[in-house]
Amino acid sequence: MALMTAQEYIDSLRKLNTRVYMFGEKIDNWVDHPMIRPSINCVAMTYALAQDPQYADLMTVKSSLTGHTINRFTHLHQSTEDLMNKVKMQRLLGQKTASCFQRCVGMDAFNSVFSTTYEIDEKYGTHYHENFKKFLTFVQDNDLTVDGAMTDPKGDRSKAPSQQADPDMYVHVVERREDGIVVCGAKCHQTGSINSHWHIFMPTISMGEADKDWAVSFACPTDAEGMYMIYGRQSCDTRKMEADASIDVGNAKFGGQEALVVLDHVFIPNEYIFLNGEYEFAGMIVERFAGYHRQSYGGCKVGVGDTLIGAAALAAEYNGVEKASAVKDKLIEMTHLNETLFCCGIACSAQGFKTKAGNYQIDLLLANVCKQNVTRFPYEIVRLAEDIAGGLMVTMPSQVDFSSDTVVGRNGETIGEICNKFFATREGVSTENRQRIMRFIENLCLGAAAVGYRTESMHGAGSPQAQRIMIARQGNIQGKKQLAKDIAGIKD
Ligand SMILES: Cc1cc2nc3c(=O)[nH]c(=O)nc-3n(C[C@H](O)[C@H](O)[C@H](O)COP(=O)(O)OP(=O)(O)OC[C@H]3O[C@@H](n4cnc5c(N)ncnc54)[C@H](O)[C@@H]3O)c2cc1C
Repeated sequence: MALMTAQEYIDSLRKLNTRVYMFGEKIDNWVDHPMIRPSINCVAMTYALAQDPQYADLMTVKSSLTGHTINRFTHLHQSTEDLMNKVKMQRLLGQKTASCFQRCVGMDAFNSVFSTTYEIDEKYGTHYHENFKKFLTFVQDNDLTVDGAMTDPKGDRSKAPSQQADPDMYVHVVERREDGIVVCGAKCHQTGSINSHWHIFMPTISMGEADKDWAVSFACPTDAEGMYMIYGRQSCDTRKMEADASIDVGNAKFGGQEALVVLDHVFIPNEYIFLNGEYEFAGMIVERFAGYHRQSYGGCKVGVGDTLIGAAALAAEYNGVEKASAVKDKLIEMTHLNETLFCCGIACSAQGFKTKAGNYQIDLLLANVCKQNVTRFPYEIVRLAEDIAGGLMVTMPSQVDFSSDTVVGRNGETIGEICNKFFATREGVSTENRQRIMRFIENLCLGAAAVGYRTESMHGAGSPQAQRIMIARQGNIQGKKQLAKDIAGIKD
């Protein structure tokens, strides 16, 4: 099948019986729901750009499995150039949506499960790799969006899965049958889950022998029987449901999405199982997925950062301060921080290597350094954007006020006239454009998009400490001590 258009992708979601709950109710027409639709538009952009000849080299690629032209979001990376193109594609999507476009978690799951299943089969003679290749061929040929579902609720963090008071705190096998397994549990924070056709479930931590039933990975259609999602709240989300608030929303077209995904006795046929009890491989999937996902942030957050830097520059221009050297310097600092993240994304890709299964893996140390910087720099970029924007980004009256004809003034002035009088700025700049840029900055710094730009930068792909553990493991301090000894003339 050919690549889907953006419209075909949106229509394909309507054909699924996905169970979505929000504000305590089942949402039947979730595709057109005003709080959900911007997140669907965002994923749709991954389809739209793949149809644009201008971006063909970045967005499409020849499948290593079939030779067909596929969307890069479904690709197994075949070289360091592919890894770098992945980061560049993510930057482009961030620039076009100023939001989390969701489709990369699936891509990162494909690449980590592909290489890990090869190594499990090598050790145990299982058939997980063949299962996975068949599944991915189906995904590529049908140009599907797949959620990469890793993070379990985890209950008491000091306890292993098998030690939890409630076994459902980690996804686990509750029944093994001839033809498959039955699974229970949940995954939290699932990016783009509702907008995906399928999910790949993976373990979230390394496991021991007692955790065998929790060491499980599989694919499952989003509308599988027993599976449902409860929509995640974002700050200012109900602005999307207000009439005449398209400016107040800050980004009316695009947005991110997270949900709690529940598996209540879901049957998984054998052909969709990629790990089933081989507990020592749980850590390998986690490490590889996290590595790819930490690389991803060196692209997507940079693209979104580009839009925030642009917005801050516009705010300065609208205020008439764009020539001030202090403002220029702040924009330079924002650019420096943003490009440093891009350097990290490109560097861990350029230093990538071939796995036993044949796809390419990023350099783990550099990917972890990339994500560690991502836990910090967007916060500083946000601080500088808020500094340049001024307080109006959080104190301006609503869009409705700007067009209100309610009389408030002594001489019959309306609320709209008063707002337009006092929020006027330099000549040639409309108050509407000023509102638009302030709300855009608000959205990215502390509104709905801040979920993806700020808190996801902190916790997505693992909280900062998770990267520090990997940096400690990969940092080769012993080797560095030897370098110092050699030059200092120290002989043990
Ligand atoms: C916007 C967003 C999108 C996301 N998208 C996805 C997605 O698509 N797929 C997916 O699978 N996951 C996703 N995640 C989940 C993300 O990977 C987790 O948030 C992250 O791994 C941290 O887990 P947690 O949120 O449960 O935090 P917690 O585990 O509660 O961690 C909170 C703090 O406690 C510390 N901590 C936790 N456990 C221990 C311990 N045992 N010892 C010492 N300290 C500890 C952590 O270091 C951290 O500082 C997303 C998260 C966010 C915020």
